[in-house]
Amino acid sequence: MRHLGLDLGAAYVKWVVLEQDGVTASGRLVTRAADGPDAVVTRLASVAGDAGQVDTIGIGVPGLFDAERGTATFLPNLPGDWAKVPLVERVGDAVGAPATLINDAHAFMLAESVLGAARGCESALFVAVGSGVGGGITVGGRFHEGRAGRAGEIGHMTIAEKGPLCTCGNRGCLEALVRDALAARRLRRAGQLLGIGVANAILLLAPDRVIVGGGVGSVGERLLEPLRREVARRALIPEPVEIVQSELGVHAGAIGAALRGAGRG
Ligand SMILES: [Zn+2]
Repeated sequence: MRHLGLDLGAAYVKWVVLEQDGVTASGRLVTRAADGPDAVVTRLASVAGDAGQVDTIGIGVPGLFDAERGTATFLPNLPGDWAKVPLVERVGDAVGAPATLINDAHAFMLAESVLGAARGCESALFVAVGSGVGGGITVGGRFHEGRAGRAGEIGHMTIAEKGPLCTCGNRGCLEALVRDALAARRLRRAGQLLGIGVANAILLLAPDRVIVGGGVGSVGERLLEPLRREVARRALIPEPVEIVQSELGVHAGAIGAALRGAGRG
């Protein structure tokens, strides 16, 4: 069986073909999000030509979606009215295989759980730091989506009651504070702030491991060291929780989408 995974990002569409032995083909193309949903969906469908015949398709989207209608409903970083575009139907018809949607941060988490840094964990917290701060949770070895698929939204946890306005409308969200720190090139401060959010989540979930990924989250110890230090100060639990980098790199989101399409989580 061959499973196509598509990761729709604001800058690039990344894709993989997943077979029993792992990833057998991968690539990326520029999203050109400004062209609007119609053109972007045509570009998504065009990946099929490069990927060859596949049995299933998973599509990771950077935002909210309606699984029943097969449409994206809110993609804050991609302009246009996505709710009007039958995303699943158009890509599925073009490729000739059934398609399924998944949130991109959840796809990342799923991939790391099955094939990456969270392998074998009974419970794990995943934090994706890029243009925003996303997250995901596995509990009892199972992927936990929560009501309306919203579990793990660590980026919109309130950190400062009267902090800066966030894109979600709330004030003082972790994402808004981290974004300000990153805009000021204060990576250490961003790590500290993430540490506060992660410490709160650890106290709630007590996971086996925390996996940090995403474009900014992949810079390594410069972010992880202040993050770990803040967690150690705030999450006073007897057994320290391992906080590690993601393992699957830039294609993790596409791998997670392929796994979802294949019905593996
Ligand atoms: Zn927010």
